[in-house]
Amino acid sequence: MARIDPWAKKQFDDYSRLMEEFGIQRFDASGLPDPPALFRRGIVFGHRGFERVRAAIEGRKPFAVLTGLMPSGPMHIGNKMVMDQVMYFQSLGADVFIAVADIEAYATRGVSFERAEKVAVENYILNYIALGLKPCQIYFQSRRRAVKDLGYILGKKVNWSAMKAIYGFSDDTNMAHVFSPLVQVGDVLHVQLEEYGGPRPTVVPVGVDQDPHIRLTRDIAHAHRLFNVGTARDGRFGVFVKGGPAGELLSRAEGVLRDLGHTKLDVIANYNVIYVDDASPGDEVRIEDALIDAEREHSRYIFVPPCATFHRFMTGLTGGKMSSSVPESAVFLNDEPEVGARKVRAAKTGGRVSAEEQRRLGGVPEECTVFEMFAYLLVDDDRELEEIRSACRQGTLLCGACKRRASEAVAEFLKGLQSRREEARDQVKEYLVEGGA
Ligand code: SF4
Repeated sequence: MARIDPWAKKQFDDYSRLMEEFGIQRFDASGLPDPPALFRRGIVFGHRGFERVRAAIEGRKPFAVLTGLMPSGPMHIGNKMVMDQVMYFQSLGADVFIAVADIEAYATRGVSFERAEKVAVENYILNYIALGLKPCQIYFQSRRRAVKDLGYILGKKVNWSAMKAIYGFSDDTNMAHVFSPLVQVGDVLHVQLEEYGGPRPTVVPVGVDQDPHIRLTRDIAHAHRLFNVGTARDGRFGVFVKGGPAGELLSRAEGVLRDLGHTKLDVIANYNVIYVDDASPGDEVRIEDALIDAEREHSRYIFVPPCATFHRFMTGLTGGKMSSSVPESAVFLNDEPEVGARKVRAAKTGGRVSAEEQRRLGGVPEECTVFEMFAYLLVDDDRELEEIRSACRQGTLLCGACKRRASEAVAEFLKGLQSRREEARDQVKEYLVEGGA
């Protein structure tokens, strides 16, 4: 079976195939309050289980958002996409958690913990604050004991062959690397421990390369539930007790189902099941979530399965992958404004070989990294973006003028960020909840 490798350098360009092959659902921004450009323009293209967060937003109920940063290189404008989503969810009331993945950086890239701290603060946290992130919990994996403990404890529900199948680990993989995905499971799920806000829908905005982590985390969350809710092999929809004191849980479940308005219940105590004959598969999530309180009386490790949104990768300015290790491929948030502007002026476009040809045939914005910059970062107004696209296609806009406009906008953006970053320096401590900096 095909496998997505979260540590690979490959760019994913066939998103439809990925969605089909890995069961990722299409993201639909309609109904969300004032969705940001990333959502409106399909840059966030897919999700896994987002319905729960959508319901929390609609019902004004608590939910959380978690993201991580890899403190091994500078933050580029492609990384900003995640922060845009985090800030959007924060504006809707989400509790925000940000993990500095210093354990993962150490395990997979050999980055020392001291260096990780410096990179995290200088390249990421200051920029997050400068971009407008409000106070939240930013923590280092290595310093948050609950995360590491949870990774270890929840790891009991996954075996070596599953880890090899998911991540392609081999005999040569070091054990710290083997453990690091479980630390990430700890990252995502610890926000639902009582001391961090309790069970609630949690969204993790990621690139599609992180889907293996999401699937593993969701599987582990499911494996710890004491009930299975769904359709059995005989086609009947039911609530099945799979752990804990069966008799007690069964009667709690019966009460929960009646409270939800279900009356056609067939309780079979010998098999620890309640068939719900007036429910449909669409009721699964609602019933599963309603059972959580009963389960948590018997286990501390009961979680609402976390969900993910998946965004497209930004193309590198040189045409390949945008990468921290290829300086000309990306505008870094810590670039001097004139450096960022120069990179944009040198970027690969969808223009023709000559101005004459471009006037005649028009450009190809879909193949242009400068247009991508407008769409992802520089132009918030959809009508304005459409004007650029259509002028490019019609050949009335030429690449020279277009790049000039983009490079000036990038320089302006970086300049503003630069000064806000310096102002942010005094605030870092408010965000770093477990010391550091
Ligand atoms: S005119 Fe602008 S959008 Fe069109 S190809 Fe040239 S740089 Fe890209």
